[in-house]
Parts: sequence; C-alpha cells; structure tokens
Amino acid sequence: MSSKMIDGTAIADRVRKEVTAEVAALTTPPGLATVLVGDDPASAIYVRNKRKRCIEAGMHDLHRHLPADITQDAAADVIDELAVDPAVTGILLQLPLPPHLDAAALIDRIPPHKDVDGLTEASAGRLALGRPGLRPCTPAGVLILLDESGTELAGANAVVVGRSDLVGKPMAHLLLQRDATVTVCHSRTRDLQDICGRADVLVVAAGVPELIEADAVKTGATVIDVGIHRTPQGLCGDVHSAVRGVAGALTPVPGGVGPMTIAMLLRNTVTAAAMRATAPATKGR
Ligand code: NAD
Repeated sequence: MSSKMIDGTAIADRVRKEVTAEVAALTTPPGLATVLVGDDPASAIYVRNKRKRCIEAGMHDLHRHLPADITQDAAADVIDELAVDPAVTGILLQLPLPPHLDAAALIDRIPPHKDVDGLTEASAGRLALGRPGLRPCTPAGVLILLDESGTELAGANAVVVGRSDLVGKPMAHLLLQRDATVTVCHSRTRDLQDICGRADVLVVAAGVPELIEADAVKTGATVIDVGIHRTPQGLCGDVHSAVRGVAGALTPVPGGVGPMTIAMLLRNTVTAAAMRATAPATKGR
C-alpha cells in the first residue's frame, strides 16, 4: 500500500496564518524572548528561524544572546529580568546549554504563564494532571498532525518510542488525555519491534536513524517520525523509508514534525498572552 503523507509544512503554514491573524487582533503584540547561550551553530540556526517566524507573525522579537562562559547566577538574573518584564510574553531558553550550566534550574525560573516551551516543572505537572497550561511544542504539534490525518485516538493502541522530557513523556501524556491506550518504549525496552507492530498510532522520537523498520509497523497504522538526522545521503528520520509501503499515514522527513514545532511555539506565545491577563502579579512569576 502507499501511505498518505501528512503534510506538516502545509499544516504549519495554516497554524502560522491563524496565529498571525490573532496577533493582529490584539491591542499589544506579544513579545517572545529567545535566549541563546554561546555559539553552538545548530542552536543559532534554530533560534534564528524562531525569531524570523515570530517577526513574520507580527510579534516583538526580544532576543537575548548570552556569552558561552556566563555564570549560573548571571544567567539566572537574565531569566528573572525577563520574568518580570511586562513586554515579555514568552521566554524560550534554547537547549542544550553549555555543560557548566544547570538547565533545569534555569528553566524553572521561567514563570509558568511565560513558559512557551512547556518545559518547567510547573508546566510538566499541569500536563501530567490534565490541567490547563502551556504544552511542549513538538508533541503538541504531533497531536495536531494526528488530528489532521483523521486518526482516531480514543481507544487506539498508541506507542511512543522515546521518553525524553522534551518529546516522549509529554507525548504520552497528551495521547493519554485523548483516551489512547499508551505504551512508552525506551532504550532499555525489550522486543521494541513487536511492541511497535501492535500500534495503531506510532510516534517515534528515539534519535536513532531509521530505527523502525517496515516489518515493525502494523499495516494501516499512522506513523509520526519525530527524528531528524543529517546523513551523507541527505536528511532521514527515526523511521525507515520502507515504512511508506506499510503505514496508512506517515509524516515525511523533512516536512513533517519539524515545521510544526515552530508553529506551536507561536501558538503558545499567543496563548501565553491570554494567560498573562490572569497570571499572579507577584514579580511576574
Ligand atoms: P533524547 O535523546 O533526549 O531522547 C531519546 C529517547 O529515545 C530516550 O528516552 C531513549 O531512551 C530513547 N531511545 C534511544 N535509543 C533507543 C532505542 N534503540 N530503542 C528505543 N528507544 C530508544 O531525544 P529527544 O530530544 O526526545 O529527540 C528525539 C529525536 O527527535 C531526535 O532525533 C531529535 O533530533 C528529534 N527532535 C525533532 C524535533 C523537531 O522539531 N522535528 C524536536 C525535538 C526533537
């Protein structure tokens, strides 16, 4: 069979257009503070793209570039400053940070109503408890791709490969909230291919090129490939290209999950603008 390709580029374009219209209707445009520490080339590209899309959507770009050797205390001061700045609607601390910095401690200084990456302890707790809050961008984007593909989630066997705080764990919670029966696999999982083979919905975020082979996919399953890898032959995902002949619907790499991540960051920033109205006034935190 030939899989239906889920066009993440087109869906992300539509989300960004919707966000742009919502921003235009606000009296004060939201401000997004991206924080880049050091000069990691990949991080610099990611941040540049986020800032470009933020400006295109009519938001204020409140970028901060910090030196690679900044101390933990000085970086914390910057986050605290942004936390209380009324012009800042959302704060995104680009990861990974240089190894001398404690990323979790810095992330947790971001007030929950400005946490547009959805990575603070407070946002993760709200997600786990099913309470309203800002959700991590990549898994939130995956959920939209699943809905757009017409995949029924209630009662479906959903398998998530990967248990990172950024993708796998929040993805599992989001699917659980949509009444899927969720299995989470990770690097110590036995019989990975068998478990994947029972999935109606398979979300792969392992960071291992072409980990999931065609014979590990149930015929007609919806497969979302979060992985992205640069190889001498070009870009590839965590899912082998032969899965195209087995899955009912599949995201391409590139052009699947990737474009959705930035679109959801913009969507979260507009949501954060609405949350600001009800956020506690105490020093913005
Ligand atoms: P991570 O390295 O933090 O986590 C990987 C997870 O996969 C871990 O929980 C690990 O236990 C599991 N894993 C590793 N090897 C495995 C194996 N052989 N079998 C089963 N599980 C295995 O990575 P991450 O941040 O969650 O990202 C995963 C992938 O998604 C990476 O390729 C990353 O580049 C990509 N990614 C893409 C986007 C996007 O916007 N397209 C966003 C975030 C991450």
